[in-house]
Amino acid sequence: MIKARIQDIEARIQAACDRSGRKRAEVTLIAVSKTNPANLVEEAYHCGLRHFGENKVQEMCKKQEELTGHFKDDVSWHLIGHLQSNKIKQLLGKTVLIHSVDTFKLGQRINAEAAKLNMICDILVEVNVAEEETKFGVSVAHLTELLSQLSELPHIRLRGLMTIAPYVVDPEQNRVHFSKMHELFIDIQGKNNDNNLKDKIDHFNILSMGMTGDFEVAIEEGSTMVRVGTGIFGERTYTKSI
Ligand SMILES: *Cc1c(COP(=O)(O)O)cnc(C)c1O
Repeated sequence: MIKARIQDIEARIQAACDRSGRKRAEVTLIAVSKTNPANLVEEAYHCGLRHFGENKVQEMCKKQEELTGHFKDDVSWHLIGHLQSNKIKQLLGKTVLIHSVDTFKLGQRINAEAAKLNMICDILVEVNVAEEETKFGVSVAHLTELLSQLSELPHIRLRGLMTIAPYVVDPEQNRVHFSKMHELFIDIQGKNNDNNLKDKIDHFNILSMGMTGDFEVAIEEGSTMVRVGTGIFGERTYTKSI
């Protein structure tokens, strides 16, 4: 069942790339495995997937422990959900990318923990591009300021931007938000000559946007990472243990 769904998602990613004159290799598919058991991650792995996303640190760590052998080295885990500072310590070393940094304070805490481990942590800045009250993410108005603050932290590497677009029935409604995100992304990349950010954004090349309901539009608008949960694993059932 997972296999058929992955094939369908793959075909739709390819088609969106074709429509927008992009190469398939420019887009990373992250399978969002939250609430789903480790054995389904294993099944998705056997269908060729190597990137997995979780929104809770404890659940990510637990799943990693349940998977053994080749999975350990061959799978990249992404922390895509809101991050509480008291979970940072547990998280570092377990994820290739934190998608959800939206305050300087959180950045400072990640930086401090990463310093202790003598490592550099790759992060994305989450942008609340639609200015929704209920969502995490920095506002567009404060993005540049946050980026320049974060760029001063030596144990953090700014890799790009992330957004969770509004829940909509018609994905076309999110095109305006994805397009805005792409514009911001390109703008920031162009700031390599700006003294504030100079040399700090050499690796700024990831734009994480698009989920099951709207990933095709996101790709057409320049997404480089799509986060697909339901489309791969089916509807989530939330249980008390999670
Ligand atoms: C759950 C989640 C997703 C995946 O959502 P689907 O609609 O199931 O594809 C993507 N991004 C984030 C941040 C999530 O929390």
